[in-house]
Amino acid sequence: EAKARGKNTYRFFSQQLNDAANERLLIESQLREAIALQQFVLFYQPKIDVQDDMLIGYEALIRWLRPDNTLVPPGRFIAVAESTGLIVQIGEWIILEACRFLARQHSRGYAVSVSINLSARQFNDNKLPAMIEQIIHRTGVDPAYLIFEITESMLMGDTDAAIKQLNQLKRLGISLSIDDFGTGYSSLNYLKRFPVDELKIDRSFVKDIPEDRNDMDIVSAIIAMAQKMQLRVVAEGVESAEQAAFLQENACYLVQGYYFSMPLPEQELSQLTFTIKT
Ligand code: C2E
Ligand code: MG
Ligand code: MG
Ligand code: MG
Repeated sequence: EAKARGKNTYRFFSQQLNDAANERLLIESQLREAIALQQFVLFYQPKIDVQDDMLIGYEALIRWLRPDNTLVPPGRFIAVAESTGLIVQIGEWIILEACRFLARQHSRGYAVSVSINLSARQFNDNKLPAMIEQIIHRTGVDPAYLIFEITESMLMGDTDAAIKQLNQLKRLGISLSIDDFGTGYSSLNYLKRFPVDELKIDRSFVKDIPEDRNDMDIVSAIIAMAQKMQLRVVAEGVESAEQAAFLQENACYLVQGYYFSMPLPEQELSQLTFTIKT
């Protein structure tokens, strides 16, 4: 009886493991197909300067558009792309596509920036700076309008190697941003050594404003620290007028979030009513 149950339990878990492994294998083969069939699209979320209510840039966010028209969010496939190495190919496409988008915006007279998320594997690739340089050259974009987003955890392993890579990237004339700031555990001591230009306050700290006094203290402390270190500070995940007001009162003027706009496909950006920086 007990033995039989044990066996069933084992079967149950091994079946679960199998399902997880099979799911990854399935996603991996579908990702290869998605690359071949060019099923990826970039959405763009406006970045607003609330001081003059102006649209100053966009963050490029990948989606996978499946043949049945379902839109798969990055949270469902980036990890598999990362662990299989497929992210290198997909990541190169993202950078090229975002630079082409930027070139189109600039040709219309808009002086906007574009922020591009990098995965750990991409960031650790020593061919990344040369690849970006080539794309800048090929698309003719002004690198001053390109922002690359990395997370704290990517910087915390081998910090000397990370600093070297950041410097290589900075040499291209691009800007660097630390995404999801506050969720990792980078020490302030290290932060000072990284040649970054911007901090993005993670949306988990913004979400419960104005109810959570603790989060409000954390957010105002991050803003004060960024100012002290002469870093630009951006709040992500702003969903309400109260949150926007709190950020403005605390001198964080750069914001992204559903309150201002969802990420949109390029052809829908014309519906936005913000004044665009020129
Ligand atoms: P992230 O870079 O921190 O991007 C912000 C995420 O928050 C996006 O989710 C965005 O759609 C969502 N968001 C924006 N405003 C709000 C808001 O007001 N409320 C809420 N609840 N969410 C908001 P998304 O597009 O699903 O991307 C999730 C993550 O996937 C990104 O987090 C980023 O880490 C990764 N990712 C997205 N695109 C790329 C990419 O092109 N390359 C790489 N390597 N990673 C990407
Ligand atoms: Mg980001
Ligand atoms: Mg983020
Ligand atoms: Mg994130």
